[in-house]
Amino acid sequence: MTTPVVHDAACIFCKIIKGEIPSKKLIETSHSYSFLDIQPLAKGHALIVPKYHGAKLHDIPDEFLTDILPIAKKLSKALGVDNNGIENPIGYNVLQNNGKIAHQEVSHVHFHVIPKRDKDTGLVVGWPAQPTDFAKLDQTHKEIMAKLDSNL
Ligand code: 5GP
Ligand code: ZN
Repeated sequence: MTTPVVHDAACIFCKIIKGEIPSKKLIETSHSYSFLDIQPLAKGHALIVPKYHGAKLHDIPDEFLTDILPIAKKLSKALGVDNNGIENPIGYNVLQNNGKIAHQEVSHVHFHVIPKRDKDTGLVVGWPAQPTDFAKLDQTHKEIMAKLDSNL
């Protein structure tokens, strides 16, 4: 059985999906809608949203999530960021934020596809890596595996 499509009348991305707010549409499928970000970090910065209203990744049924990465792949080619030139490499980031503390502004799940053509445009990431500690890793692994084994 197909999961029914759920909308929230007050949500800006639900309004975009329904065409109530204009957008620069890129790819649309039965489960997803993609369009240009209105305040791009770089030229071609795109968003992909499931046609299902949910704030965070874990709120979205799997059939909507599995539709999204192939769209990100198509967009990477259309944006011309799939070119692994050695002289002048262009990259891209696929980003998905969950929660205000994790920089989520719009409470409808969305994946960013952000071209990275140079160090100043595109995504700039802070990466506060901690030193490797195998005892801590072991403990963390045990904690997570216990939850996974209890079928959370
Ligand atoms: P977040 O910080 O929630 O991960 O990203 C939300 C993104 O949605 C931002 O990059 C912002 O520019 C974009 N955005 C917010 N409102 C609109 C809108 O009305 N139209 C479009 N195209 N993008 C929007
Ligand atoms: Zn929504």
